[in-house]
Amino acid sequence: MNSFPSSPAHAATGGKLDVAVVGAGVAGLVTALLAVREGMRVGLFEREEDFSGSAAWRAGGMLAPFCEAEGSEEDVVRLGLRSMQLWPTLYKGVRREGTLVVAPPRDLAGLTRFGRLTEGHDSVDASEIALLEPDLAGRFRTGLFYGGEGHLNPREVMPALLAELVSHGATATFGWTGEIKGLAADRVVDCRGLGARDRFPDLRGVKGEMAVIRAPDLALNRPVRLLHHRHPLYVVPRGDGVHMIGATTVETDVGDGVTVRSAGELLTQAYNLHPAFGDAEIVEFNSGLRPAFPGNEPRIVDGGRVIAVNGLYRHGWLIAPAMAEIAVGRLTDRIKEHEVLTCVSS
Ligand SMILES: Cc1cc2nc3c(=O)[nH]c(=O)nc-3n(C[C@H](O)[C@H](O)[C@H](O)COP(=O)(O)OP(=O)(O)OC[C@H]3O[C@@H](n4cnc5c(N)ncnc54)[C@H](O)[C@@H]3O)c2cc1C
Repeated sequence: MNSFPSSPAHAATGGKLDVAVVGAGVAGLVTALLAVREGMRVGLFEREEDFSGSAAWRAGGMLAPFCEAEGSEEDVVRLGLRSMQLWPTLYKGVRREGTLVVAPPRDLAGLTRFGRLTEGHDSVDASEIALLEPDLAGRFRTGLFYGGEGHLNPREVMPALLAELVSHGATATFGWTGEIKGLAADRVVDCRGLGARDRFPDLRGVKGEMAVIRAPDLALNRPVRLLHHRHPLYVVPRGDGVHMIGATTVETDVGDGVTVRSAGELLTQAYNLHPAFGDAEIVEFNSGLRPAFPGNEPRIVDGGRVIAVNGLYRHGWLIAPAMAEIAVGRLTDRIKEHEVLTCVSS
C-alpha cells in the first residue's frame, strides 16, 4: 500500500486555508483539484493513512453514463455525460474504448430489455464482437456496444490526482483525526462518503464485493458486462492479463471482506464469460461500502461554511467530476444555489 507524507495543514499556506476538503476518495480528490485550479489555497484531510479505506480504491473504474441509465436516475446520466467531458482535463490516462454488453442465450431477453432502457449503443453481431474483442470470438451471437463510454484504473488515478494536487501547492494530510469544525479554513467540502453519517443519518452503505484476477492468456480491450438474470457481472481490464471482476450489490453496511457465496458467483460468472478465466490466478478479493441516500440520488448540500458532496453510490467515478464542478462553482459563487439541480440546502 502506498503511504503519503503528511504535511501540517498550514505549511504551504502560511495561515488559514480557503478550502479544506475532507475525505480523499474520488469525490474529495477531484473537488480539491478543481478548487486548487481556481487558485484557492486547498488542504485535503483524510482519516486513513492511504487510499485503502475508500470505496473508490476498490471500484472498477467504469465510466459508463449510458449503461448506468438502465437502473439510475436521469441526474446520474446527465452528471455522467458532463464528467466524460471533464475527465480528460483531470487525468490523461482515461481509456475511451467503450463498453461491450453480452448475454448467454437464455438471457437474450435481458439484453433486449437493457438496450431498450439505454441509449448510445449499437447492436453488434458475432463477427463484430470478434473484431472488438478477439478473445470473445465465437462465444456470443449478439451484443450491445456503447462506443462513448470509457474506463480508468482507480489505483493509478488516485495517486496521480494526489500528485497533481500537491504539485499545485495544495497540502494533503493522511491519518487526520481532527474534526471539521476545528479546521482553519473559510470553507469546507465534506467528501467523507459513508464517514459522514453524523451529518446524514439517512446515509447507508451498499456493499460491493470484487475480485482481481490475473489471466495471462486473456486480453480484453474494454469493460465487458455479462448480463444474467441473477448474477450479472462486469470485467474491467487493467493490462498485463489483470482483470477486475465485480461487483455484488448487497444492502448491508456491516462487515468487510467477501462471502464464500459471492466469491463463488463472481468466479463462476467470469468463467462463463470465458473459460480461460478458470485458469486465472486470484490476486485479491475485496469489498467496499458505497455511500447511498434512500433514493440512491447523489446530493450536494450547501450548508454555508460546509458544503457536502455525497451519495455517489454506484457511480462515484462516473459522476465525481461533475459533482465537484458544482461544489466548486458554489465556492466561487459562479453557480447560484437555485441553479444546482442536485442541491438540497440545509
Ligand atoms: C466494488 C465496487 C465497484 C465499483 N465500481 C464503480 C465503477 O466501476 N464506476 C463508478 O463510477 N463507481 C464505482 N463504484 C462506486 C464508487 O466507488 C463510489 O461511488 C465512490 O467511491 C464514492 O466516492 P466518495 O469519494 O464519495 O467516497 P469514498 O470513495 O468512500 O471516499 C470517502 C473517503 O473519506 C474518508 N473519510 C471518512 N471519514 C472521514 C473522516 N472523519 N475524516 C477524514 N476522512 C474521512 C474515507 O477514509 C475515504 O477515503 C464502485 C464501488 C465498489 C465498492
